[in-house]
This record gives sequence, structure tokens and C-alpha cells, in this order.
Amino acid sequence: MENLWSENEAQGLNELDKLVYMSRLIGADPSLVVWGGGNTSIKLTEKDFLGRDVEVMRIKGSGSDLKSMERWQFPRLKLEEVLPVFERGDMSDEEMVDYLDRCVLDPNSPRPSIETLLHAFLPFMCVAHSHADAVVGLTNNREADAILQRVYGDDVAVVEYLRPGFQLSKLVGLAVKESPKLNGVVLVNHGLFTWGDSAQEAYDRHIDLVSQAEEYAAQGGAKGAGTGTVSGTGSGAVFGGWQRNPLAADRRKEVAAALAPTLRGLVSQQRRAVLRFDDSPDVLEFIGSTEGQRLSGIGPATPDHLIHTKRKPLWVEAANPEDTAAVRESLKQGMADYATEYATWYQENTTGADSMLDPYPRVILLPGVGMWTTGRDARASLITNDIYHHTINVLRTAQSVSDYTSLTAKDAYDAEYWPLELYKLTLAPPEKELARQVALVTGAASGIGKVIAQRLAAEGAHVIVTDLDAESAEDVATEINRAAGPERAAAFPLDVADAGQVADAFQSLRRAYGGLDILVSNAGIAPVGTIDNLSLADWQRSLDINTTGHFLVAAEAVKLMQEQGIGGSLVFIGTKNVPAPGAEFGAYSVAKAAEVQLARVLALENGQYGIRVNVVNPDAVFQGSRLWSTELRQERAAAHGVTVEGLEEFYQQRNLLKAKVFAEDVAETVLFLASNRSAKTTGAMIPVDGGVREAFPR
Ligand code: ZN
Repeated sequence: MENLWSENEAQGLNELDKLVYMSRLIGADPSLVVWGGGNTSIKLTEKDFLGRDVEVMRIKGSGSDLKSMERWQFPRLKLEEVLPVFERGDMSDEEMVDYLDRCVLDPNSPRPSIETLLHAFLPFMCVAHSHADAVVGLTNNREADAILQRVYGDDVAVVEYLRPGFQLSKLVGLAVKESPKLNGVVLVNHGLFTWGDSAQEAYDRHIDLVSQAEEYAAQGGAKGAGTGTVSGTGSGAVFGGWQRNPLAADRRKEVAAALAPTLRGLVSQQRRAVLRFDDSPDVLEFIGSTEGQRLSGIGPATPDHLIHTKRKPLWVEAANPEDTAAVRESLKQGMADYATEYATWYQENTTGADSMLDPYPRVILLPGVGMWTTGRDARASLITNDIYHHTINVLRTAQSVSDYTSLTAKDAYDAEYWPLELYKLTLAPPEKELARQVALVTGAASGIGKVIAQRLAAEGAHVIVTDLDAESAEDVATEINRAAGPERAAAFPLDVADAGQVADAFQSLRRAYGGLDILVSNAGIAPVGTIDNLSLADWQRSLDINTTGHFLVAAEAVKLMQEQGIGGSLVFIGTKNVPAPGAEFGAYSVAKAAEVQLARVLALENGQYGIRVNVVNPDAVFQGSRLWSTELRQERAAAHGVTVEGLEEFYQQRNLLKAKVFAEDVAETVLFLASNRSAKTTGAMIPVDGGVREAFPR
């Protein structure tokens, strides 16, 4: 492991800024910490609010991420108030958190890390703590004691597994008191602490100790097997060699797309989840290996892994992964068994003070094909994915030096049902209305489609923005991700009239999110002209997009939703012209009427699957619209006997409310029909037209 401390960059920084610098160096290396893990601290003499000198400890605040630390994310605690608790015999987590809250100097600063006492009890200026894969690999195996002694000698103390809190802090504090010459402390099933009289010294020792662990594993420890590589592209020898070769890359992707909706339905039985598929080399090596199944069933490397991955992944048995019908059955059985086993484990360990969390896996491994991870949103499934790669890394290190061991079943329960962790969950803001859902909107690069995509995203949905205009679709997705958070939108280029493109888009969707809950079928064009003057090409183009386009997309959507088995909602954007057609607008009005009939038939056929199908009929939405081309404006103005400039006013004046209709008005109705607000409505048509008497649904 490379020491990245740069004299140049650290030059001139004060002690606190050096700590910030060190924290970012550690945070930027995923083999040390991921997703908010690890922490750092410094003890200094600083001024309080009256200008008096106080001994303080600054420690990473809870909820911050080492790689992006700022000064303000290190709350200050008064050491003279913190240190006396070292003399206590015990302290509950709640008591400790309350106590530490009172030692914080500045109101409104973030809550100090749960590992604050451990840092405080170490009598050194700077402390660095990581969850380095290599170190965890050395602690999680049958010969850990001997191996750690061989690697670190007496430079490092080893402390048995305990959940973070008062007892662990006190144990570490006592170990260091007894042997003040130590360079660090290794916590079994957890990670590494180092310290020094400066940030650089703490960092140097940290990198040194992790490097020693990596080198020992690379040489294969006592086994001499050697991982050779830590990137996961090896021969699989460390996991007992290949047992099953992966399918070819394109077949893996096809199988994954075929199975994902079934899988998503199964893990969404209590609450919906979003899936992420991964067939990268280290995953394929692990799941294809002789030892993969046994190792994956032993348990999590650390509590840090467990809170994202649960205790065990679901390993799917499949003699032939290409036989998707058989794998589906195996998935269903495997999922049921997993849930039963989870419930048993919960019952055996619960104190009775909590209630069981959902019993479905976060990691699903299918030999020959790849790995799915699940989460409440795409970001959570990405984090779980990332963590399982680290689990595989730890397994690789442990297997190369000895044989992997894990947290006990009881420790795993205590970690997953840690009251402090559960309490944190209750503090999270309530989920948004469309959280955990995936929506696909066609024609979403501009006009009504774009505003609908933004609205659904604002209500918590993941949104696939599709359009002929791939570049603008990409822009809309980027805007949504900026507003709603990363991973929330993706853009697919899509000509809805092209069956091949529609099929491809749904394949991508199945792999990217695992399924679909909402389809907004919106893409359309508006050719003009009297019937006797219409070219066959214009007529056909209107049918292709305004009818067949809806058919192709909806057919893929309901197929997917039927496989998922958790219902869904299809919303078709119709037009006021369906109930009240316009002269010289035949190709459009006829094709849109067919679209509505298509929607009604879909409602008839899919009610049994809990899939609702409804239509919104807007009238004359001009804003941001590409439908309203100059040509269309000229034609409709002529047809109504008004000027082009007066056209919007004309439409406004012809409705009962004398209202301009905006894309936002349409999006509001789409939200109603897409969400559970309209749970008992299907086969319906709702106008959003300011009230056009001729267009009253009948
Ligand atoms: Zn930790």
C-alpha cells in the first residue's frame, strides 16, 4: 500500500488542517474504508467561547465521510469532562451518547462518532482508525492469533470482538496503558487503530501496518498459496479453483435481464427494493469457485459489512443457469428458505425488545451469471454492491493465510439489531410517496414528458428518461440526478416505433434497476392535413408512433410487471382530440384514439395482475413542447381562423375555466394515476384541458 502523504501539500497547514488532510487520504482509499466508515481525531488546546484555554478532542462527526471531511465536521469535546468515565465499570450505549452530547463545546455541531471514547482513551495527539480489508482478513480466520503475532509481533495489541461502545473503548485504553510502546491496536472483526504525535505519524504507522498485512497475505502466509492478486482477476486458486466457468458475457446479461423482475418481486414482498446487477471478474471468480458457496454462507466480515449486506447472501442453486424457467423455481424456493432461516436466527437471538426487519437478502449470487444487490434505492444497492466486493477481498485474504471465520450468529444479531442503529433509522425523514419505485417515461427530453419525469423524481421515483433525442434525454437525467441525488435517473435513447430499440431499452432497464413500477407512455407526433391531402407516409408515421409505439412499449412493460408479480401502473398520455377530434388533424386523432383503445384493453387484460392502466387527455400544452412545431401552429391557427400569435389565447378562451394548461397540470394528474392515490382506478380517462364541453368523456 502506497504512502500518499505529500510534504508539499501538508506544508504550512495547521494541526487541524493536517488532520483533515490525513482523513481525506484515508477516506479516498476504498481498501481502507468505504461509505462513511472509519474515523480520525486530534487532541489540542483551543479557546472556548470566553477565550479560555481548554483541552479539547476533535473527532469525526457521525454521518460524515472521511474522503470529503471539512473542519466543521469535527465536533469539539472537553477532554477533562470525557476522560473521567474511564474509571467507570460500565456504561450503556444510551448513557454514553447522552454523556458525550454534554461534553460537546459548540452547540449545533454534529454528534461525535460512536467511537469517541476509544479515541479519547488513547493518550496520543492524533488517532486514525480504518476498516482495512487486509487487516480484517488477518483477524477473520482460524489462526488469527498466531498470524497476527507473526505479522506484527509486539508492536500491536489485538483486542477480541466487541461491539463499539464503552467496554471496547475501555479494553483498548487498558491495553495501551499496559504497553505504551504499541504502534497500533487491531480489533478483531473490525479494523485498525494507529496514533502518533502528529497526523503524519499516525498516518505513516497506519499505512505501514496495513502494508505488512497485505504483504503477508500476498505471500500466502503460512500456507504459501498467495493471492497473487488482490484485484480479483486471478485463477481462483485461493477459493479452491474454478468449479463452474461463467457463461459468455452476452449470455450472462441476457440471463440476468430475464431473471431480474422475478427476483425483484421476490425481495419486494414487504417493501419494494431496487436491484443492481454485477458480473465483474472478482464476483465471477468467487461464485464460480469450489469454495464460494461454503464461504458465502459463513457470515459477514464485520458489523460494518453486515448492516449493508445482511448476515448472509442468498446462493442460488442452478444446474444450468441458462434454463431460466428452472432458475426461477430455484429462486422462489431459495428465497422462501432464506426468509425462514432468517426468521429462525432472529427468534433464537432476539431480546424481545425489537421487531423483525424484512427477512430478504441484500446480496444474491447466481453461479455462472453474477451478483445482484438490493436496496431501498439505487444508491443503497450500489453501496451494498461495493461492500460485497470488500467482503470478497476479506475472504480472499483470510483464505490465502488460513480459513475464514466470521462474527458469531449472536454478534451478528447484536449488530443488525443494535438499538443505536435502529434509533438512527427512526430519525431518517419519512420516505417519499414514490420511493423504491422505478418509472419509465417516453418522449421525456422535452415538453410534457420532461416535466412528468421531473415530477415523478421529485416524489422519490427512479426515472428512466427515454427519447429519440438522446442528448437532451441525457441532459434531463443529469438535471434530475443533480436535484434528486445520484443514481436516481438514467437516459436511454429510444425510438418507440422501433421494436428492436424498445426491446433493447427494456433489457437495459431490467439490468439497471431490476424492474419497473410505472410506465408513462407519452412520446407522440402531430402531423396535420385533411384526410384527402394526407400522404400515406404521414398517415403511417402517425400510426407507427402514436399507436404502435404505445403498443410496443406497453407490451414490454406489462410482460415485465407480470414477471415481477407486484402490480404496477401504466399511464398513457392521450389528447382532448380522442373524445373531440379536430378537422385537418386526422392522422393524429385517429392514431390517438387507437392508443386509448389499446389502454382500455390493457386494463382489461392486466387487472388480474394488479396492473392499472389509465389515460390523461391534455389539451394545448404549448410550454417547452416540440409537438407544437411552427408548422402545426400555423395550421391550427388557420383551421381555427385566428393568427398564430393569437393561438394560445384562442385555446385558453375556448375552455370553460378560461385557463392555460401547463405541463405541470398534466404531471399532477399523471402522479395521481401513477401512485396509490388512485389505487382503485383503472381503465379511466381524465381530461386536463380547462374543461372542453365537446371533450367530456362519455
Ligand atoms: Zn470502526
